[in-house]
Amino acid sequence: MSASIETEARSADLIRRAEGLFPGGVNSPVRAFRSVGRPPLFLERGRGPHVWDADGNRYICYIGSWGPAILGHADPTTIEALHRTLDNGLALGATNPLEIELGEAIRAAMPSMERLRFTSSGTEAVMSALRLARAATGRDLILKFAGGYHGHADHLLVEAGSGIATHAIPGSAGVPASVAGLTIVVPYNDPEAVEAAFRAHPARIAAVIVEPVAANVGVIAPAPGFLELLRSATAADGALLVFDEVITGFRVGRGGAQARFGVTPDLTTLGKIIGGGMPIGAYGGRADLMALVAPSGPVYQAGTLSGHPLSMAAGITTLAALTADRYEALETTAATLERGLVDAARTAERPIAIARVGSLLTVFFLERPPLNAAEALAADRAAFGTFFGAMLDGGVLLPPSPFEAWFVSMAHGPEEIAETIAAATTALGR
Ligand SMILES: *Cc1c(COP(=O)(O)O)cnc(C)c1O
Repeated sequence: MSASIETEARSADLIRRAEGLFPGGVNSPVRAFRSVGRPPLFLERGRGPHVWDADGNRYICYIGSWGPAILGHADPTTIEALHRTLDNGLALGATNPLEIELGEAIRAAMPSMERLRFTSSGTEAVMSALRLARAATGRDLILKFAGGYHGHADHLLVEAGSGIATHAIPGSAGVPASVAGLTIVVPYNDPEAVEAAFRAHPARIAAVIVEPVAANVGVIAPAPGFLELLRSATAADGALLVFDEVITGFRVGRGGAQARFGVTPDLTTLGKIIGGGMPIGAYGGRADLMALVAPSGPVYQAGTLSGHPLSMAAGITTLAALTADRYEALETTAATLERGLVDAARTAERPIAIARVGSLLTVFFLERPPLNAAEALAADRAAFGTFFGAMLDGGVLLPPSPFEAWFVSMAHGPEEIAETIAAATTALGR
């Protein structure tokens, strides 16, 4: 992986110029590599399981565009579809038949999305779904889980206040306390806390929003019965259940987490994979609820570039490739990686815990896999930073944070998995 002095100078120059342009040198915070204590990479090219940085170094990639790249980078069929679509022009400002094609493909995989709408990002999809939930119930409060990420809208950038079932406090500067106060934050996988919140605020919670597999504080699987409890508690109180499947949709299986765990939400938000690497989001659910959205109902929501033909084309080809046998192969790939990492840790006598749901996987520098955000955040950050650096030196690019999922793709073959395990064996041995 050694780059010449001359090409390394290119990265150094890019860092200098980026830092003079963008806050922290980036257009999304995690790209700054701050939590791993390394200079940020500039990625210029991707193909299959690999990416290349601006100095020409190649890495096996587990960032996977933060989820969308389930087929690997630059999937040839997707790229071809994009070229064909491009020849017809870009957004034309009226409904394109491609929107119907992708919408039907999504609904066929997720029948709970009886009606849906496309947005340009997952953040917008979640904002819109919760506006709809508030309109449908006539209630203001939202219940979310600590460590759950649902985009960067004000009322979701919040942290738990003191004590269970109390109102949240701002998790970002610039979020008014009055807005944060409309959100209640409770620990993930804690049924009593959910029940306590409903007891404390009867008939006042519009919706419970949850990542059915928590994947933004490292991967945390739902405890048996937890999603079922959310379903029954919301139904009993007249609140709506919103599954934020922006990551899990088409990732943990074609039908998302709702099919995998057999729990049906009222509303679902999607993003990432359904756009095949292009900007996208979608929200949808019960037809009676979606009928409240403009122009059929009073809940306003719009987007100049919503349903963009390039996003639709990339989504259609991506979803078409996601067959049952490919998910099975992906499961095998991810399980092989997990076993290899467990063995590597045992050989190196390093206590690590691996949490995996399908092709989402996190190596926690902890004694056992966490059940909630508080347990996850106790992981040894310095140890992860060292591991990250050693893996990078070994040609493997992990998500540059101890609290993110590794995204295994269908382009990762036995060779890449073996190389990754070998790199981990060396890295953990240090
Ligand atoms: C990425 C993500 C979002 C936000 O999507 P953007 O397209 O980045 O706005 C929302 N929810 C979850 C679960 C996500 O992982």
